[in-house]
Amino acid sequence: MQAEVNIGLFGHVDHGKTTLTKAMSGKWTDTHSEEIKRGISIRLGYADANIYKCGKCGDCSFEEKCGKCGEKGTIQRKISFIDAPGHETLMTTAISASSIIDGALFLIAANENCPQPQTKEHLMVLQTLGIKNLVVVQTKIDLVSKEKALENYKQIKNLLKEFYPETYEKIPVVPVCAFRGLNINSVAGAIQEYIPTPEREKNAPLRVYITRSFDINRPGTKINELKGGVIGGSIVKGTLKNGDTAVLVPGILKGGKYIPAEIKVNEIMAEGEKLKEAHPGGLVAIKTNFDPSATKSDGLTGSVLGNKNDVPECRSEVSVKYSIFKRSDLEKVYLKEGDPIVLNVHTATTVGVITKIKKGTINVRLKKIIAADKGSKVALSARVGQRWRLVAWGEII
Ligand code: ZN
Repeated sequence: MQAEVNIGLFGHVDHGKTTLTKAMSGKWTDTHSEEIKRGISIRLGYADANIYKCGKCGDCSFEEKCGKCGEKGTIQRKISFIDAPGHETLMTTAISASSIIDGALFLIAANENCPQPQTKEHLMVLQTLGIKNLVVVQTKIDLVSKEKALENYKQIKNLLKEFYPETYEKIPVVPVCAFRGLNINSVAGAIQEYIPTPEREKNAPLRVYITRSFDINRPGTKINELKGGVIGGSIVKGTLKNGDTAVLVPGILKGGKYIPAEIKVNEIMAEGEKLKEAHPGGLVAIKTNFDPSATKSDGLTGSVLGNKNDVPECRSEVSVKYSIFKRSDLEKVYLKEGDPIVLNVHTATTVGVITKIKKGTINVRLKKIIAADKGSKVALSARVGQRWRLVAWGEII
């Protein structure tokens, strides 16, 4: 079974994302530490969890055995939780990879005053992206008294009212103690009710955003025994089947030019299981007939897989309709022509130089070509002091 819905994890650092993910999914695929070292590049962390429904009492659980009455439940959905490390990358990723995220779990710790600055900024990002289906998880409930928990609950509701004035009353707030696994199954119930699987167009043109790629051959393997390269990514639209031929863009660099590459899908895997065909949701790994030297060490991260006659445009220059992102921790940043800027588009990261700014539109000449559809969301980061900071967001026009 493939995950069918992607839920982003948001909330102030230290509000317990890792512990909650572990409580819900039983594991945590920590792919983060390496990414922190690499700075602003995108590496999404994925952890899948199943939601079961009890036939006897009707409660939902993350485990087959009902958390309330102990009866055996039936599986309803597989969920993929998506996380990104750190405040800066989380916001950048949420914007650039927003096409992957179907809903949000928003964590707020009960033992701190609400809102914390980052809490507010994450809500701003969600509102900006139009993500309406969210479940608030009030974490660390064991660290406070009942009165304090209720006061914190009121603060949360007031905050939601500010960002979701029309729907805040309906947004569920689920108190948990993730560390002890208390009330975790209520999160399963809330997800089941408030974050539905979106309608997917099965026949839409294929788009797979590549998040990683690797070479599975041991060093020294004989040429005739070499296995093709493996790429991993998220299907955003369309269906991918075993035996399909797809086109990877921008492709392979040859003589200073990128050439789109035709690849054959030999095998599709999700969570270590073989799939006959794959749909949007979660992360898939695709074994191909492709030259493994091109796929090694994440060499194809940021590429896009499409259909033979329908791939995103390859761009060495982009026009972005943009808005400045208001941040509490930064003075207003003024973007100027000639300034360097980092762009994150889906899973691609590229540096460029601002060539023109006019009436809310920014033109950027890119150092590395990217493949992106018109309308793709873009996160723009400028150099502030020693670091790249998210300062604006927009979409490719
Ligand atoms: Zn039950």
